[in-house]
Amino acid sequence: MGKRKPVPKSVEKDVLIASRRRCCLCVFLYDRNEVCKGQIAHLNQNPSDFRFENLAWLCLEHHDEYDGTTSQSKGLTLDEVREYRDRLYARHNWDAKQSSPDDAQAVELQALPETSEYETVRKNFAYELKFTLAPWRFPLWQVANRSEFFAYKAGNRADGICLIERIDLPDGRIVIACIEMAGNPGNSITNCVEELCFQVCERFDIPAERLVWLEHYDYDGRDEWDMVTFEQKPPRGPFASPEWTVMTPELWRELKLKPKKRITQWHGNYYSKLTKLFDWPTEALL
Ligand SMILES: [Zn+2]
Repeated sequence: MGKRKPVPKSVEKDVLIASRRRCCLCVFLYDRNEVCKGQIAHLNQNPSDFRFENLAWLCLEHHDEYDGTTSQSKGLTLDEVREYRDRLYARHNWDAKQSSPDDAQAVELQALPETSEYETVRKNFAYELKFTLAPWRFPLWQVANRSEFFAYKAGNRADGICLIERIDLPDGRIVIACIEMAGNPGNSITNCVEELCFQVCERFDIPAERLVWLEHYDYDGRDEWDMVTFEQKPPRGPFASPEWTVMTPELWRELKLKPKKRITQWHGNYYSKLTKLFDWPTEALL
């Protein structure tokens, strides 16, 4: 199989926002209007056609079904998917003009010619460079009311970074607020939530039974937060079969937390995007 080029970030962003991560087939064929784990599908089945008009966010099941459709099987048709997609975008008041003007002109830099100089140095200085072979390590302890960057590996090797904050609820549950920031070069926090969750919980020794995982995107004025639950979790196996539930005022009340409009930064730190409605240290080391 040839190397499949990823959808350019700027176009991907438009698709994610326009669809609000809802699969148009789930919404219109099954009345399931909810955020779902999915992929960007190429409607004309040409994986290098990245035009926004050629793309749609489909859940994994419908993506498989659509890609596997042959002309004889009377499966999902292109026109049908496009129609539902456009209806979904219209429902979300998506206007293509919202996308930023330089999106269309994003230019990929040419790869530089391969060089062996680093390979040679690596061979000759194996000991000095040994540390680079160990996994990335969050070097410090966690601090109350601070969000910090966490670098994660992704199963598809599009490793990424996100912000995380840990909040210990009075009832013993541990909230991890996981926030995707603009500029993440890798897989989104949604698409590799299972892998990311494992790495965070392992690093900070968070028992899976006590975990409450919250997911949020801190750009483009998106104020949606989702709670992610997993059908399978340690010790039975890795986190698997995630499900997203949009946070409602009732769910926030139940956690004794309240989302803020924006995340503040000060002196090189990101502060919390969540107000605690219980006694919580402001800066104590955890
Ligand atoms: Zn679907």
